[in-house]
Amino acid sequence: MKNKIQIILACAFIGFAILACGQSSSPSVPPAAVTAVIVPEEAVGAEAEAGSAGLGDSYYPGFGNGGYDVTHYTLDITVNDVATSDLTAITTIAANATQDLLSFNLDFIGFEISTLTVNDAPADFSRKEQELTVTPLKPLVAGQPFTVVVQYSGSPDEMQSVALPVSTGWVTVDGGSFVMSEPDGSANFYPVNDHPLDKATYTFRVTVPHPLEVAANGALIEALDNGDTSTFTFETRDPMASYLATINIDEFDIETMTSDNGIPIRNYYSSELPKEVRKPFARQGEMLDYFSEIYGAYPFDVYGSMVMNTEFDSALENQTLSIYGIDMIDYEDVAGTELTVAHELSHQWFGDSVSVADWSDIWLNEGFATYSEGLWIEHLDGREALDEWVKSQYRDVVNYPQYYAAPGNPPADDLFNGGVYVRGGLTLHALRLEVGDQAFFEILPVYFERYQNGNVSTEDFIAVAEEISGKDLTEFFDNWLYNETIPPISAMGLGVE
Ligand SMILES: [Zn+2]
Repeated sequence: MKNKIQIILACAFIGFAILACGQSSSPSVPPAAVTAVIVPEEAVGAEAEAGSAGLGDSYYPGFGNGGYDVTHYTLDITVNDVATSDLTAITTIAANATQDLLSFNLDFIGFEISTLTVNDAPADFSRKEQELTVTPLKPLVAGQPFTVVVQYSGSPDEMQSVALPVSTGWVTVDGGSFVMSEPDGSANFYPVNDHPLDKATYTFRVTVPHPLEVAANGALIEALDNGDTSTFTFETRDPMASYLATINIDEFDIETMTSDNGIPIRNYYSSELPKEVRKPFARQGEMLDYFSEIYGAYPFDVYGSMVMNTEFDSALENQTLSIYGIDMIDYEDVAGTELTVAHELSHQWFGDSVSVADWSDIWLNEGFATYSEGLWIEHLDGREALDEWVKSQYRDVVNYPQYYAAPGNPPADDLFNGGVYVRGGLTLHALRLEVGDQAFFEILPVYFERYQNGNVSTEDFIAVAEEISGKDLTEFFDNWLYNETIPPISAMGLGVE
């Protein structure tokens, strides 16, 4: 049962590489000046270029866009018809130009765009697959803030992720909808700079027909009854990677509690689900406090989980609100399901607050969350129980090596294979044995504190581990992250024969 999430997520890639479309257009040449007076705006225009159509991710170079940095998204969405998710929407993007820009791109698919403005002036735009290219009336100036407003309507296009053989983004189900976007689904419901490198805060203002409700990231600020409809407004306090944005619509059974450390928890369960569904979530407060103790204070203002009454074979750590398909809940094995709950919760530190700078380093998310399952077992049942768990994980890798690629180098067309989970988690256990408990439990909080609300690479983690332990760990990490065969853990008698 411990492998449920790993096996589920270790699924075949239905992949087609997103090809780089590094759209570099030449600087436009202004018409010959007719006077000797140089107007500053023309000077800007002369040097401005198109922002790049990708952020240079080594696996998915077309993800995200260059030339600007988003600070805040406001998503105003009215759901006209729940059965089809027919939406009328306005996305407002507050951003800063990081270079002079003649044009810039957003990631967005589907829908009909009715108006698009930049700084309140209508802007030209064109669309090609996932790229929405916007050309403002006047070039944007490096360092200056600007605002983009996109009005659109229609139903979200079904989105086939490059990394999972399931529908991602906004998914319509019987009686409601949910959003689960890792890594590239967000573009099917809002125009976005879709890469973890560009984090921003969010406001969600979502109007739904009675009696439906909305569960989104962050704190519920307002719930308005408009007669036939209701409007729910959520705000995130902390910046968030775009793939973690979630808006879910259903009738909910809402459970609230507070961890001993004072973190408010609200859980949303589809109202048709039996009360037993709450059981595996009962210890989230305890988990929050335990992980806060070993990793550093919980990074956000609120937490909770949402269970949809739909099977989608996954759980995802959406920031402040993890989401679970009903098939992730095993009513017969509450303790086993609790490990999945611990896994998603620990991602709030590793994945959500500390995010990858490049998708190739996904083991920094999944290895840490998997080892967090082991640490939760150790917390409950002691070191022997952890050792048993480590042995069983190790045996799986030895018996089925084909499912467990080297964690530091997952195939670009099979990002969520079992290696980044199980071998990633075992890498942390091996590190713990290599540097000792004292150093290990200093490395984790120092790494978290240094990079919270930011982005990391594997090199950043190795640097912290070397700094705290005082050891040269180059060879250790080379073996654990990049060897085709898993290295032995001699201290535990584990190795490939
Ligand atoms: Zn995970």
